[in-house]
Amino acid sequence: MKFILKLLICTFVLTLIITSCSTQEKVIVKTKTVHDTIYVTDVDPKYHFVEQANLKDYIISKKNFPSVASNHRVKFIVLHYTVSDYPTSVKILAKKGNVSSHYLVNDLPNDSIDLLVSENQRAWHAGISSWGNAVNLNDTSIGIEIVNSGYKKIGDSMVFQPFPNYQIKKVISLVKNIAERYDIDPVNIIGHSDIAPLRKQDPGPAFPWEKLYKEHQLGAWYDEKDKLYFLNMYEPDIAPYNSVLEFQKALKKYGYSVNLTGVYDKNTKLVTRAFQWHFRPQKGDGIIDAETWAILQALNKKYRTK
Ligand SMILES: [Zn+2]
Repeated sequence: MKFILKLLICTFVLTLIITSCSTQEKVIVKTKTVHDTIYVTDVDPKYHFVEQANLKDYIISKKNFPSVASNHRVKFIVLHYTVSDYPTSVKILAKKGNVSSHYLVNDLPNDSIDLLVSENQRAWHAGISSWGNAVNLNDTSIGIEIVNSGYKKIGDSMVFQPFPNYQIKKVISLVKNIAERYDIDPVNIIGHSDIAPLRKQDPGPAFPWEKLYKEHQLGAWYDEKDKLYFLNMYEPDIAPYNSVLEFQKALKKYGYSVNLTGVYDKNTKLVTRAFQWHFRPQKGDGIIDAETWAILQALNKKYRTK
């Protein structure tokens, strides 16, 4: 009886705030002290172990020493459109065996979103891709496919199909949840065409990136005052950019993969088009105009200060 009483007296719950030296992130770790020994009883749910070895002959203890020195493997959210209707998209992404995504957002006005691949598995959605220093984004991203028929070629122009509002609401809810859980950098919420601009067009200029940022604080967007500042730096009749090389350097700085050729070549045009589809969807012709250049500089000022 005495022993139990002593145990109860000596037992109390501490909440320690441990600061990780590498990330400066505060992690809440609950501990229990019995006599002189501190036991960890719980850590921030973010640090819970989901996947672990399960052995017949040994116990894997996840309670004793949960380390605070870790971060998420998932760094990017990549958005796509399927170019197919819902049943065909399911066939291609879930049953065919060579492409997939983690999530599929259908185009039906219901409350359903499909999980096709577990988030801790690698889905095959990005292909050859890069963003900043990262390559092969399948390794480090969550892929979301959105059912949409893509674009139709009418004459020389590409006419992109709109996304219904109820579908965008699903995408927003999903992206918000993933971004929060993995603490995704806003500049890393991107489209397939951002990470593979020479090959891909999705999710295209009809995808409302501006709405995601302005109404839901998701992803990256420039500040209007910065855009105007850079826009006003140039006389209207003067070439809006110093050189193609400067523009290519700025694209690269923001994250796009582009060769610094100093020449407005086919690849530069395609990368510029991808940039415009994301940040200047009214244009999307790949031609560098003053506003495109101003937006790019405004984004670098806001997000790429190093
Ligand atoms: Zn895609």
